[in-house]
Amino acid sequence: MTKATYWSEHAWLGTHVEPGVLLETNEGRITAVRTGTDSPPPGAEILRGLTLPGLANAHSHAFHRALRGTVQVGSGTFWTWREVMYSVADRLTPDTYHALARAVYAEMALAGITAVGEFHYVHHAPGGTPYADPNAMGEALLAAAAEAGIRVTLLDTAYLSSGFGQPPTAHQLRFSDGTAEAWAERCSGLKEREHARIGAAIHSVRAVPADQLATVARWAEERGAPLHVHLSEQTAENDACREVHGCTPTQLLALHGVLGPRTTGVHNTHLTAEDISLIGGSGTGTCMCPTTERDLADGIGPAVALQNEGSPLSLGSDSHAVVDLLEEARAMELNERLRTRTRGHWTAAALLRAATADGHAALGWHDAGVLEPGALADFTTIALDSVRTAGPLPRLGAETAVFAASAADVSHTVVAGRHVVRDGVHSLVPDVPGALADAVAALRG
Ligand SMILES: [Zn+2]
Repeated sequence: MTKATYWSEHAWLGTHVEPGVLLETNEGRITAVRTGTDSPPPGAEILRGLTLPGLANAHSHAFHRALRGTVQVGSGTFWTWREVMYSVADRLTPDTYHALARAVYAEMALAGITAVGEFHYVHHAPGGTPYADPNAMGEALLAAAAEAGIRVTLLDTAYLSSGFGQPPTAHQLRFSDGTAEAWAERCSGLKEREHARIGAAIHSVRAVPADQLATVARWAEERGAPLHVHLSEQTAENDACREVHGCTPTQLLALHGVLGPRTTGVHNTHLTAEDISLIGGSGTGTCMCPTTERDLADGIGPAVALQNEGSPLSLGSDSHAVVDLLEEARAMELNERLRTRTRGHWTAAALLRAATADGHAALGWHDAGVLEPGALADFTTIALDSVRTAGPLPRLGAETAVFAASAADVSHTVVAGRHVVRDGVHSLVPDVPGALADAVAALRG
C-alpha cells in the first residue's frame, strides 16, 4: 500500500476539535498528525467536515438485516421476533450469506464503520450437516468484509443447546457443533488476515452448558482473542439460570472463568448490583446495542453503573434495525436521560470513545480508533454543512456529530489508508441499495 495524505478541514483528536489537520499515512497506518495546516497541500485528499477515528460496530448479526421492516408488523416480544429471525437463518447458504453480508458491510462503510464484530453462529447446513469446508459460512463473512473494504473480527460462536439441559431445536441444529471441543476444533481452522481477526463467542448461558463454558474461555485465552457473550438481555434467561444453577448468568460466567478484560458482555441489561460489581471489577466490557434493545423491547441496561465499576463501553447495531453508530451513541445517553430524568451522563467525547477506541479494543484492534501516529489509518468524515448539521460552530463538531448527525452525513470512510467511501459513494460496491435489495430478495420465503 502506498503513501497517502489526507487534509481534514476539522478533526476530533480525542478531547477537542482542531481545524486544519493533516493526516499522513503509509502502509495502512497513520505516520503523522499535523495541526495548524490552514489549507490542503498539493496532492492531499481533501476531507470537508469533521474527521473522526473510524467507528467500531462491536456487535453484528449480518443476516438480521434481512428482517428490516418485516418484523415491524404486529405485536409480540423478543421471543416472537426470534421465530421470524429463525425463518431467515433457515434459508442462508454460504453464497446467499456472502452476498447479504457484503452488502450489509458496505452499508456499514457508508455509515463510517471501519471495523465490525460479527457474532457468528450459523455454521452448518440446515439439519446440522457440516459443509465440505466446515468454516464455509465464516469464510463467506470474512470475504464479504474484505470486498466491502472494512475490518472484521469474526466472533465464532459456540451454540450447543436451546436452553438449560435442552438439546438444540430443529432451527438451531445448524448452529451447533455438538460440543465445545468440536466447536474449538472447527474454529481453530480459521486464519487471521490483514483485515480480519478471529475471536470467540458464547452465544449465551442458555446455549452453552455450564460444564463447557471453560472450554470456550480457554480457547480464547490461549490465543489472546476477544470473547463475547450475550448476557442477561431478557429476564427469562435470568429466571431459568437461577432455577437450574441457583445463580445469575453473570455469576455462572464468573464461576467458569469467562469474565475478564478480553471479554465483552453484550446487552448486560437485567443485572443485580453484585453482577455489576463482578463485570466491572473483572474489567469485562459492556457492549450496548440501544437501537436493537429498544426495538426488541429488552429494557435499558445500567451502562452508567457498569462503567463506574470499571467496565469499558462499546456500541453495536446488533439486529441492524438501523445501521448508525451515531444513533447508538446518542441513544445510550438519551435512554439514561429518560430513565433518570436528568441530563449529561456522558459527554459527546465519552460517547465517541465508546464508538471508536473502546469499540475497537473490544474487538481486539488495540491500535485503531484514534487519530495518532502509529495507529491504523482508519477514519471517517461527517459533513458539517448538511441540513442536519449546519449551524453550530465547528468547535462543537463532536456534539453536533453525536447529537444531530446521522449515518447519512458520512461523506468519507478511509480504512488502512484506502479511500473506501468518497463523497458518500462506496468505491468497491457501486450500488449498495441494489446489492441489499437483491440479497434480501434472494432470502425471501
Ligand atoms: Zn446479538
